[in-house]
Amino acid sequence: MVSLVVESPQRMSASQNVVVSETTRSSIITTTTNNSSSTQKPPTAPPGFISISKKKLLKNLDIINGGQRINAWVDSMRASSPTHLKSLPSLSSQQQLNSWIMEHPSALEMFEKIMEASGGKQIVMFLDYDGTLSPIVDDPDKAFMSSKMRRTVKKVAKCFPTAIVTGRCIDKVYNFVKLAELYYAGSHGMDIKGPAKGFSRHKRVRQSLLYQAASDYLPIIDEVCRQLVEKTKTTPGAIVENHKFCASVHFRCVDEKRWSELVLQIRSVLKEYPTLNLTQGRKVFEIRPMIEWDKGKALEFLLQSLGFGNSNSVFPVYIGDDRTDEDAFKMLRDRGEGFGILVSKYPKDTDASYSLQDPSEVMDFLQRLVEWKQMQPRM
Ligand SMILES: [Mg+2]
Repeated sequence: MVSLVVESPQRMSASQNVVVSETTRSSIITTTTNNSSSTQKPPTAPPGFISISKKKLLKNLDIINGGQRINAWVDSMRASSPTHLKSLPSLSSQQQLNSWIMEHPSALEMFEKIMEASGGKQIVMFLDYDGTLSPIVDDPDKAFMSSKMRRTVKKVAKCFPTAIVTGRCIDKVYNFVKLAELYYAGSHGMDIKGPAKGFSRHKRVRQSLLYQAASDYLPIIDEVCRQLVEKTKTTPGAIVENHKFCASVHFRCVDEKRWSELVLQIRSVLKEYPTLNLTQGRKVFEIRPMIEWDKGKALEFLLQSLGFGNSNSVFPVYIGDDRTDEDAFKMLRDRGEGFGILVSKYPKDTDASYSLQDPSEVMDFLQRLVEWKQMQPRM
């Protein structure tokens, strides 16, 4: 999958700056206008973006103008589509899966080992919503979680501080989850709230924990969403979602033949908003403020708020299924604390340590976690 930071093609000129990642695992292309001075440095790319090899990057730069650039996006949309992975020849895809599972074993099969590694530290649970607690569905407004999953998450929150970390805005995700005792980090972590008053079970945290990293962007996102709705209305199946501090354009229900048209429409809106990033997730485009904040930063903020900023007595566990969750997986790797679990049936490039196949396996894992906690001697 490729993350591109999009700028207005009209604004690109000989003075454009290009940030080239030297890493080979993932890639980012950042182009930015340099209006004031030829020595001005481009803004630093937000952390956690994937990078591609320099060769691939140069190829992308070659096609930065015109239709071929659109084709690069469409190729990326195809590459991230699970249905295309399914169509790989069975033997090679099975081999790929086997070797990926060796590197990212099932968190259910490794459960005892994981618990052993927690070594009596305070477990803190971070859970993505879509594709993790709820199945991915065609209509994002119908991504309901089962009542069994809700009961399980409720039990988890009784045992450990538990946060929902999602791209959706807090109000929408709360309408699905409906558990006042949880922490919520909405809009990719740009909107953070603690448990409702009287619901906090964990004494270390301030009651009305609230942080909004991108509050200045609220009117811009509103405006962009209105324009995206208008622009994409001729593309059947395209769904624009306003997440308050960020936005999504879902293309799950858009005919593949119309993907390039959709990319053109989105880009034609975003060219007027150089402070917004366009990235691609699972059948969705994400539009986010170009600020140094993501799910990984939200995880760090929450751990700090819980009193574990510089502590080595915490064991965070983050479960998520999407590209944006990688920022949190990477944060855990960098901290050397806890681990990430990627929800995926298919091999993906990830910083997570373990895997689970789908939301039903996530529920089994959470259930085992609760049972494990109940078996522990009370301190
Ligand atoms: Mg997700």
